Amino acid sequence: MVRRVAVVGAGVSGLVATKCCLEEGLEPTCFEQSENVGGLWYYTDQAEEGRASIYRTVFTNSCKEMMCYSDFPFPDDHPNYMHNARLQHYICKYAEHFDLLRHIRFKTLVTKVKKRPDFSVTGQWEVVTRRDGKEETAVFDAVMVCSGHHVYPNLPLAQFPGIQKFKGCYFHSREYKEPEKFRGKKVLVIGLGNSGCDIAVELSTVASQVYLSSRSGSWVMSRVWDNGYPWDMLVITRFRTWLGNILPRAISDWLYVRGMNRFFKHENFGLMPLDRTSRKEPVFNDDLPSRIACGVVVMKPNVKEFRETSVLFQDGTVQDDVDVVVFATGYSYSYPFMEDDSIIKCRDNQVTLYKGILPPRLEKPTIAVIGLVQSLGPIIPTADLQCRWAVKVFQGRWLGKCWVKGYFLTTLQTDYISYMDELASAIGVKPNMLKLLLTDPQLALKVIFGPCSPYQFRLVGPGKWSGARKAILTQWDRTLQ
Ligand code: FAD
Repeated sequence: MVRRVAVVGAGVSGLVATKCCLEEGLEPTCFEQSENVGGLWYYTDQAEEGRASIYRTVFTNSCKEMMCYSDFPFPDDHPNYMHNARLQHYICKYAEHFDLLRHIRFKTLVTKVKKRPDFSVTGQWEVVTRRDGKEETAVFDAVMVCSGHHVYPNLPLAQFPGIQKFKGCYFHSREYKEPEKFRGKKVLVIGLGNSGCDIAVELSTVASQVYLSSRSGSWVMSRVWDNGYPWDMLVITRFRTWLGNILPRAISDWLYVRGMNRFFKHENFGLMPLDRTSRKEPVFNDDLPSRIACGVVVMKPNVKEFRETSVLFQDGTVQDDVDVVVFATGYSYSYPFMEDDSIIKCRDNQVTLYKGILPPRLEKPTIAVIGLVQSLGPIIPTADLQCRWAVKVFQGRWLGKCWVKGYFLTTLQTDYISYMDELASAIGVKPNMLKLLLTDPQLALKVIFGPCSPYQFRLVGPGKWSGARKAILTQWDRTLQ
């Protein structure tokens, strides 16, 4: 029987993992190396070893109704998209509200997680921690890995010939905090992800010129969608997902490309993704198109070669006198505390997990990786449902032997609603649409045609929340407020 659970990390995933354990009568101990909850959203002026680091002006790209914990809506007066400090405040309130803090050991680094010699029988793990230089070892029946995946920079310098000769300064976006020290400089940002776009736009307010280099382009979406409503409340709906699944691929691709180009034609801005129909996560930036239109950000293809003070691009153009290069080239997955890191397989930055959670090939399913899957949807409700599912698995209430042959996610890219429904069905918390239509048509229509907000997974079944129905019926009121 699983009783004691070690939770690694007290970010948004670790907090909900701790809460789910408590709700299932388990005994969680959450280890957090820093002195606060929040993980990535706990901003500090200096990047800390082993913890995600954000720049001062990060705002969420998921709106408050879509990214909240499923039984803890944001206060009514919060804006739809939040500065990191506001989100951090909400995260702290969540931890207080559910009395999670007394289960967290702060300033405690997990240095090793390894199988016990009798693992094949007990499924137990040995967890070694370090606090103030003192090591401790304890045995746990299960482990929830909530250590985040925006921590270890991917800095592929070998793919950039001549970088050693380059006399300007260069660094990974993880080190970037604020724009002031780049005033008057010529800056090249490499990478068209969320961080690359944010940093390019922010630097364009102080730098003499910003170049933004992209290998394969990206769809750039606005937070503000039709009639000014949050994009995710209009786009992430059951009806649209259902339509996407039944329409012939060619039509759904055409609609997708048309939707992405509705505010500006990506081709004209040098942003067009090479694979236009791939459902790769888009980038959210309301300002980038206008910064390009104003000429303060100039789009560039991939870098071919660095020279002492200039950069040659694939299209043959050369930019002289470049002072600074920011590599916004993403992150690698890493679990340095796993004694055998092939358990959570990290070859070529790839991880294969059953339902995006359980490492395969273990004799006992007693370790879960939370918050790693990527979809168009927000991470908080995803982690919330993953944890509810995982603790049930730990208790042997679900799974049986089928998981060995089951549904694996290798790329960890998935469709949000299909993935959430899959987990929700497995633990009996997916609302039955037909039953809902017959018993509560007003709610049913909101659930089917409205935003797939997290409260939908608290309407029925274990963990049902009495406020869920009202939260769904009033979600647009809070949005307008
Ligand atoms: P983290 O927030 O990284 O927390 C992990 C915690 O584990 C940290 O506190 C760390 O100190 C601790 N830890 C790690 N290793 C150890 C160890 N060995 N021992 C003890 N403690 C350890 N997602 C969204 O849904 N919406 C958004 O708008 C959004 N915006 C983003 C913007 C940026 C710039 C970035 C980089 C990401 C964004 N994300 C967004 C994704 C983001 O990863 C998630 O929102 C979320 O923060 C992930 O939470 P987590 O708890 O899984 O990991």
